[in-house]
Amino acid sequence: MTRPLVMKFGGTSVAGVTAMSNVVRIVRGSVRDSRPILVVVSAMSGVTDALLAACAAARDGSIESVERHIADLESRHLAVVKQLFAATPTAEAVGNEVVRMFLELRGVLTSVAILQELTPRGADRVTAAGELLSSRIVAALLTESGLPARWIDARRAVVTDASFGAALPDLPATAITAAREIGPAWEAGAIAVAGGFVGATAEGITTTLGRGGSDTTAVALAAALRASVCEIYTDVAGVYSADPRIVADARKLDRVSFEEMLEMSASGAGVLQLRSVEYARNHGV
Ligand code: ASP
Ligand code: MG
Repeated sequence: MTRPLVMKFGGTSVAGVTAMSNVVRIVRGSVRDSRPILVVVSAMSGVTDALLAACAAARDGSIESVERHIADLESRHLAVVKQLFAATPTAEAVGNEVVRMFLELRGVLTSVAILQELTPRGADRVTAAGELLSSRIVAALLTESGLPARWIDARRAVVTDASFGAALPDLPATAITAAREIGPAWEAGAIAVAGGFVGATAEGITTTLGRGGSDTTAVALAAALRASVCEIYTDVAGVYSADPRIVADARKLDRVSFEEMLEMSASGAGVLQLRSVEYARNHGV
């Protein structure tokens, strides 16, 4: 089999209807005979912040404020679903799934509000929702656009340690789970779509990889699946050897292969360091 391609799209790339349509166009342009593709997406922009705000409101016992945040987020997601899809069974299934996930979120946040105690584990359970939602929508959109896609539950594909809020992927374990979860989609000729930022401990407890962690997911899955390249599409205009906001002498690069990214990580703090590597090819996303 041809080695897989991993394509990661950040929050602005899935921020709304126009951006998501761009994602479809870019993915379509990357489809080659029998090349397996994994698409990794962030939450729609602003969603993780809003979920964290909902967590803080719950911790303070402010049910009304929690409900305001959640109702806003729910209508934003449902509006996107409504605008993206005609009234098809796929659209109905995604809409129902969005509603179900918000019911679950309300349940978790209500218990946080009653206890007025927010644990890192509880916060992860809430913030993971952003990527789980956006990835379901993107998977459905690709399918509706004639690019058969399958949603992959990142909590089943990415095994992490139990450092809630800043979990590190366990690469050897993830190599096994990722192949198990993603392999069948590829064998069926489908594009696999997973939410970034989210994983689970070996016991199945939901974790998140830290802010900006969708890049880490993409690179970890690329390594686990022996991808030929991991493309990170972002609103940063260009490719840097390190995060230009942090490293003063970060070099702008034209193109970085996945192998080079691995080399960069090998020279430093492993996967964590890859968080600062932005591999952007500018397609107006
Ligand atoms: N949604 C998460 C964040 O806002 C992860 C990511 O976008 O990479 O930090
Ligand atoms: Mg980012």
